[in-house]
Amino acid sequence: MHVLVVGAGAFGGWTALHLRRSGARVTLIDAWGAGNSRASSGGETRVIRNIYGGDPDYIQWVARSFTLWQQFGQHIYHRTGALWMFPGDETYAKKSIPLIKSQIDKLTIADTTRRFPQVDFTGINNVYFEQEAGYLLARRGCAAVQETFVGEGGEFKLEAIAAPANIAAAAKRADAVVFACGPWLGKLFPEVIGDNVAPSRQEVFFFGTPPGDRSFIDFPVWVDFSERIFYGVPGNESRGFKVAYDTRGERVDPTTLQRVASSEGLERARQKLAQRFPSLANAPLLESRVCQYENSPDGNFIIDRHPEASNVYLVGGGSGHGYKLGPALGEYVASVVLGKRPLMERFRLTASRKLQAPKTQMEHA
Ligand SMILES: Cc1cc2nc3c(=O)[nH]c(=O)nc-3n(C[C@H](O)[C@H](O)[C@H](O)COP(=O)(O)OP(=O)(O)OC[C@H]3O[C@@H](n4cnc5c(N)ncnc54)[C@H](O)[C@@H]3O)c2cc1C
Repeated sequence: MHVLVVGAGAFGGWTALHLRRSGARVTLIDAWGAGNSRASSGGETRVIRNIYGGDPDYIQWVARSFTLWQQFGQHIYHRTGALWMFPGDETYAKKSIPLIKSQIDKLTIADTTRRFPQVDFTGINNVYFEQEAGYLLARRGCAAVQETFVGEGGEFKLEAIAAPANIAAAAKRADAVVFACGPWLGKLFPEVIGDNVAPSRQEVFFFGTPPGDRSFIDFPVWVDFSERIFYGVPGNESRGFKVAYDTRGERVDPTTLQRVASSEGLERARQKLAQRFPSLANAPLLESRVCQYENSPDGNFIIDRHPEASNVYLVGGGSGHGYKLGPALGEYVASVVLGKRPLMERFRLTASRKLQAPKTQMEHA
């Protein structure tokens, strides 16, 4: 069986690798290369965490992804733990704990303050520490998956499918075709996907820590689950202390977007730094990135067949939380394409899922 996979991001790359490992002949193509700067899988780091609002499917896929990232090796997964801070409602964590096998500790504010003197916990009432969580090197991970895929006999080509995709022509290119085109999926398939994958502008800032100081390097991934969710990652291959704002920004075009961060975004990130990490209040900005989420209407992934071509699959809608799940999603999509598993109803783009109000990354489930 020959399978063509379009898109070498976290979703397409892992799908191609699993297909190859299952014995298929696989061609992976990408318009700009694996983990390129326009792709949603580009940039330095992504959080990997088990706490998932009590959603059993995602929690199971995260568990499987932890295993597959660890087996994959190549220093992509970095275990730092995750510090979850809740000023109010902690349901998102509480509902997950009974479903998670790895260790989650509920900490008292006194313990947490002793353990993390870098953090000002004012206003925080509940803290959880998730042991297995950490971060993944994002663009490096995509490149490593692509190189491994090629090393195991897969074929990679730099090639772009013109938008809108000619479905009849695409369907003839291989026995099965998987479009894993991230934020471009709606543009490629305006009739079938259209606005149901809406790319939103997201800004990420990297702040400089003091010289020779490890206190913000030997530090966990953190999530401040306040009314507006912020999160961050330490270290980042020495690029600084990452601060990101999870709320969806304006709608953007991932091809033409000018990726210059806004002064409002920087100010917002600085305010969060000053509030939560006071010693970094005046830290210099080292770098910034403008990326995009590829939001589905309900924040859940989209994995479905094209209604006019049963050998064509549409895979995307990572909605700001897809990277970590690339290994498990790819394994599942490969098994669907090879006829070993049915499509999961919850990920199909059924009429009832289309164009409801999007939620935020952490709140989707
Ligand atoms: C700022 C930010 C922070 C995030 N934080 C997290 C996090 O902490 N944890 C987490 O798990 N997830 C996170 N995410 C989400 C996650 O990164 C994405 O959901 C995931 O990377 C999506 O992968 P993808 O393969 O679907 O899309 P992409 O990575 O965009 O890959 C699609 C690929 O398709 C290619 N392509 C598109 N059109 C064509 C065409 N016509 N022909 C050929 N090739 C084409 C593109 O070049 C691209 O490489 C974050 C995303 C952003 C932007």
